Amino acid sequence: MDTTASIEQAAAFAESALKLMAAQGIPATPANFTVWYAYHAGQSDELTRALDSMLDDKAEFTRERNQEIHEKYFSFEGEGHEIRETTGRLQTAVNNVLGLLGEAGREQSDYGEKLAGFSGELSENADNEQVAALVRGILSETQQIVEKSQAMESRLGQSTQQIDELRRHLEEVQREAMTDALTGIANRKYFDATLRAAAKDATDTGEELCLLMIDIDHFKKFNDTYGHLIGDEVLRVVARLLRDNVKGRDTPARYGGEEFSVILPQTSLQNAANLAEQIRGTLAARKVHDKRTDTDYGTLTVSIGAGRFRPGEPQESLVQRADQALYQAKNQGRNRVVTEDALDKVVDLAG
Ligand code: GH3
Ligand code: MG
Ligand code: MG
Repeated sequence: MDTTASIEQAAAFAESALKLMAAQGIPATPANFTVWYAYHAGQSDELTRALDSMLDDKAEFTRERNQEIHEKYFSFEGEGHEIRETTGRLQTAVNNVLGLLGEAGREQSDYGEKLAGFSGELSENADNEQVAALVRGILSETQQIVEKSQAMESRLGQSTQQIDELRRHLEEVQREAMTDALTGIANRKYFDATLRAAAKDATDTGEELCLLMIDIDHFKKFNDTYGHLIGDEVLRVVARLLRDNVKGRDTPARYGGEEFSVILPQTSLQNAANLAEQIRGTLAARKVHDKRTDTDYGTLTVSIGAGRFRPGEPQESLVQRADQALYQAKNQGRNRVVTEDALDKVVDLAG
């Protein structure tokens, strides 16, 4: 939130934000309010440009889109906070269990000492009454330890269950933090981290690493013709196509907007080009069809650029070369695959 605005300014930003949200049918949740307050306060040029373009495009602010905007521009804080909080709760639960185990250990040894004490009391010439009293004592101590153990067991059980739930929650939060809300494949943040790791692996092992950059052709026109909601559906179709066409170690991701990418470890440029061609051909050969409404939206195509990693170079250089190849595919008429080897002029960004 803006910390420099005066109270009056902040009130004015908040009022404009709420008005615009009402006009666009955007629910006034804290997350949405954060976005539109920041927009009115002019906190980020990038955010302003993105929202202005959506407003110009008369984009519908669906729940998913709102979530996506918030995630893209604000999620880092939120996510970090949630992960930190869950990790903290997990730590507390683990400490509880450790405490309970320690307590259980102490009680067991107390009981052992008491039993040892009783056996010391039992002299050879003890009479019946003394033996009876001793047995009563042992029984009572035993009863107590059994009750305590049962209580302990149930508390331990609860704590263990709590730990399990927290761990699952943490995994879920972490998975969500890496997933694109609209398409369900990896998001940009996960893409960056995965490419970094893959580049390091490739540099260390000398194995090949390739990257595809994929951009939907004339998507603006598609949106203008059929609306953003159908456009969003198409993004899901493309994401599914990528997922269905790659193997386990490959990572398809939504790079941003209508751009996708696939990280291909241990893959030659020729094989990367073959895969790209398979993806391009599959999409071009079918009609986008909405089963629910039985509507055809014609065919959609993608242009793809493929790059090959040069050991030791910054990962951005690989992205840029794949992007140049993509740009050339667009220039040569779209619906095609271009590899960096076929670039008219390779600019060596690694210098
Ligand atoms: P080109 O073939 O040169 O790539 O043309 P294009 O129209 O696809 O490219 P341009 O970059 O001009 O437009 C991209 C469009 O993608 C603009 C925007 O409306 C659309 N777009 C970006 N993100 C989303 C999204 O999340 N949902 C929908 N429905 N459309 C999006
Ligand atoms: Mg684009
Ligand atoms: Mg495009």
